[in-house]
Amino acid sequence: MKYFREAYKNYSAYETADDVYDIYLYANENPINLFITLTDDEKDDILFLDYNRYPDSDCRSLKEAYADYAGVLPENITVGNGSDELIRVIGDVFLENGEYVISHEPTFSMYARCAEVARGNYYGVMPRDDSLRANADDIIAKANELKAKLIFICNPNNPTGELWDEEDIIKIIKNTDSVVVIDEAYGEFAGINSAYLANEYNNVIILKTLSKAFAMAGMRVGFAIASKEISDVLNMAVDTYNVNTFSQAAAKLMLTRKDKMRIIAKDLAAEAKRLGEELAKFDGITVYPTVTNFVLIKTDKNKEIYEALKKSGILVRGYSKGLLSDYLRISAGTRSENDSFLKVVSEVMS
Ligand code: PMP
Repeated sequence: MKYFREAYKNYSAYETADDVYDIYLYANENPINLFITLTDDEKDDILFLDYNRYPDSDCRSLKEAYADYAGVLPENITVGNGSDELIRVIGDVFLENGEYVISHEPTFSMYARCAEVARGNYYGVMPRDDSLRANADDIIAKANELKAKLIFICNPNNPTGELWDEEDIIKIIKNTDSVVVIDEAYGEFAGINSAYLANEYNNVIILKTLSKAFAMAGMRVGFAIASKEISDVLNMAVDTYNVNTFSQAAAKLMLTRKDKMRIIAKDLAAEAKRLGEELAKFDGITVYPTVTNFVLIKTDKNKEIYEALKKSGILVRGYSKGLLSDYLRISAGTRSENDSFLKVVSEVMS
């Protein structure tokens, strides 16, 4: 339709799992529902709230709890309806017409979308070789050439599972004139937390989420951590009442389960490594080393594996086009789910 903005004319929805499968190894979720660790009293505390009233639009007590967890002050935090909302809001707050967002390919596709919907442009810096490792110097050069407003660094990176060297990130922050957004959605699996950078640099934003290690993808709670100057504007830019009362209360409660979360995150990261080690035993599968709860593989049998898995009721992430067309990303499930996955792969590969 002629009335649509150019960016929306050929827009395609973000790919999500629509069919019904027995085993989802698709969206890097946590297979363990931590909610079941709550006591009945705790569940009652969050079920019987004043749902006739609007939520706390400032998420005050959740910010306090998360500030304590992340090691910053509540004034450094913006809460989002998932970190997806925050990525979109960051685009909205920083981009003027046509300005560039830079990231490293392959990475989370929302960064490109952030640029598109905010009337900006996206440039994905390609890896130098098949290792798919991002190169900080290439990013710095491109960001300066294009006068990028925003640089997204996904650490650890989705979908490669790689961990960035901290010196490389600091180098990018110091050698560009951009706002550097470090997305640590999978940080807990790798045992990293760069929230302190928000205190040291006022052009840095750290993104966090409860969707992965904290097992709360269905609650939609994400965080941006930044200087007070940036946080004040992000807090104004998110939708009023963007995080509902239930999610605020449940999120606060789940933060009290951080020790349990850490144990589960460690187990899941170990399962992802195990998947990698098992898959590497097959001729014709290249495995990318991972520090996360998922593993990326390259194989020219990717389509056969994907279809055989589907027939067995198992969904993994395939990529129809671009740089990753020969790749599959597998999220670690429970040990028995992973074993079911490996059985199907071994049938295809034998
Ligand atoms: N960042 C990365 C790197 C992700 O992989 C995801 C989820 N796929 C998100 C952010 C979004 O997470 P959420 O909106 O659930 O917080």
